[in-house]
Amino acid sequence: LSYSNSSNSSGNLLRTQPKKHTSVRNANTTTKKKKKVVKKHQPSSYNTKRISKVMSELDGGIDKDSCEQIINEILVSNENLHWDDIAGLNSAKQALREAVEYPFLRPDLFKGLREPTRGMLLFGPPGTGKTMIAKTVASESQSTFFSISASSLLSKYLGESEKLVRALFYLAVRLAPSIIFIDEIDSLLTARGDNENETGRRIKTELLIQWSKLSQNPGSSKDSEVDNRVLLLGATNLPWAIDEAARRRFSRRLYIPLPDLETRIHHLKKLMSRQEHQLREKDFTAVGKLTEGYSGSDLTALAKEAAMMPLRDLGHSLLHVDFASIRPVGISDFVLALETIRGSVSASSLQQYSQWSARYGSTG
Ligand code: ADP
Repeated sequence: LSYSNSSNSSGNLLRTQPKKHTSVRNANTTTKKKKKVVKKHQPSSYNTKRISKVMSELDGGIDKDSCEQIINEILVSNENLHWDDIAGLNSAKQALREAVEYPFLRPDLFKGLREPTRGMLLFGPPGTGKTMIAKTVASESQSTFFSISASSLLSKYLGESEKLVRALFYLAVRLAPSIIFIDEIDSLLTARGDNENETGRRIKTELLIQWSKLSQNPGSSKDSEVDNRVLLLGATNLPWAIDEAARRRFSRRLYIPLPDLETRIHHLKKLMSRQEHQLREKDFTAVGKLTEGYSGSDLTALAKEAAMMPLRDLGHSLLHVDFASIRPVGISDFVLALETIRGSVSASSLQQYSQWSARYGSTG
């Protein structure tokens, strides 16, 4: 693929003709009137009609209560996130644009051998932006976004989970293009071990069945217009816990590493942008250098701690102080905060990620 240079950074080249190419099974619901008002990121009101239609013609084997639960708790309305909101991670962003965004926006170009992938895995230390990337790819590809953590599938919906998984894939196909994001997916696709209970095993089996169905040639289905733009996007901090068969189904496995210096500085600036502060360029660089090994969420914790310092100085008198007289956050606050907020990812686990990435990861 050679889109990277021909399209501008926000992919507008392809976005000039979005709706024409998102003709789906429910295309007749996209009325002329709607076409006019459709914005890049569909407001939930746009989906409401599609959802009502799907709900009114559910297939026999699909549990209505599960569908309702999914619509209320798992279907997430678009947050209007953009690639530019994510600091760094350029190769992962580019890989996702090529593997998901472009095929989803231009399905006419991505057929046969160019069919979009059905499974992608984002792996790496916690707090590096995997969830944020998932939300962004859904937003940028104008997809219906389903988001659930494996632990809630295994606990909250216990007993109902198989029905729920079936309903989830059913809705994802009907509301395509769709992304099913499953966080902590390792706990669902764990290698068969002692701690795998019967329920977990059944949910895993159902998930694998439904997932395989996505890969069956849609043309051979009784409904030749079934939309094939459905992606299972998994995220995990423990990629090695995923069993081999499941691992192979993720045709792309992207390493989301800890932020590099430039990314840390960008992240710190963003965090401080809505806070009174005296940090200059060289201060951001200094903090950036001192935070090697910090994840995105570690940096957030650090900035929060630094932002607390001016209030701490005031002690009890903060109850009566004027907002305008609170001193801005400075470099010394960060120096102090660095003493308590440390990077949360150990060197040994970083090594483990690199090794797994070298063995099973996809490059770029
Ligand atoms: P993960 O899913 O990898 O555990 P999250 O996506 O939940 O991480 O990120 C944790 C927090 O850190 C989020 O609030 C997010 O805004 C921020 N963050 C992490 N990485 C980045 C990044 N590359 N760019 C911008 N913000 C980031």
